[in-house]
Amino acid sequence: MSFFKVENINKSFGGIQAVNNLSFEVEKGEIFSIIGPNGAGKSTIFNCINGLYKAENGKIYLDEQNIMGMNPHEIAAIGIARTFQNLELFNYMTTIDNLLLGRHLKMKSSIAQILGINFKNSNAAQEEIKHRRKVEEIIDFLELKAYRDRYVFSLPYGIQKLIELGRALALEPKILLLDEPAAGLNNEERQDMIFWIKDIRDELGISIIVIEHNMQLIKDISDRVLALNFGKMITQGKVHDVLNHKEVIHAYLGEPIH
Ligand code: ADP
Ligand code: MG
Repeated sequence: MSFFKVENINKSFGGIQAVNNLSFEVEKGEIFSIIGPNGAGKSTIFNCINGLYKAENGKIYLDEQNIMGMNPHEIAAIGIARTFQNLELFNYMTTIDNLLLGRHLKMKSSIAQILGINFKNSNAAQEEIKHRRKVEEIIDFLELKAYRDRYVFSLPYGIQKLIELGRALALEPKILLLDEPAAGLNNEERQDMIFWIKDIRDELGISIIVIEHNMQLIKDISDRVLALNFGKMITQGKVHDVLNHKEVIHAYLGEPIH
């Protein structure tokens, strides 16, 4: 079986079938992209995978384990991490504290202890050293040292997106779900994001599923692409074939593929 597998999932909201009998598979170390016009159901797929929404039927497997029915914390703990279409960071905390919070599922001690509040117990102290070491590694890896102790709200948007990526990495995931990682980024920031996504796969061996509108990013990073419209797969395969597929071009009419 593939490393990650989605099998016949459905999700509807009232009369809207947001995800319609969708299946796909992702191999270990693969970068798999999902494209489609606004409202196609892309974010809903991520919400079904990470347990925020309950898919109505079907199965989702990570490493042969069916994760359907697990809650979001359990799903994160077994190795599925994500970033969001709209940044979800703690603005009035520093970079390093946001990353430490990303590890809270791996922590036995309370977050208050880890962040140094009421911090006397030596088990918690040992644990804190371990978690801080891991988080420092991520800060080094993503070259965030200069921003380590800065409040998130004071940083450029491109850096905030990178911190969100770092927070997802802090979970030490097996698979990473990135929802529009280039949204809101300027050209230079987008190039950086492309570099980091590839580096995470190449250096850390993490499989990645990415939703994105920016076709330059899609072309640069994808091993395979799935095109979606009205919750249904149009086609999937190699980037060039998918982007030149007649129905994919049609689905994007009025929304230029750029
Ligand atoms: P995309 O990410 O491809 O732009 P979404 O997955 O966000 O699309 O949305 C797919 C469809 O499902 C849209 O019609 C959207 O309005 C609907 N939808 C998504 N989430 C909800 C929700 N929580 N409640 C009602 N409708 C929703
Ligand atoms: Mg979306």
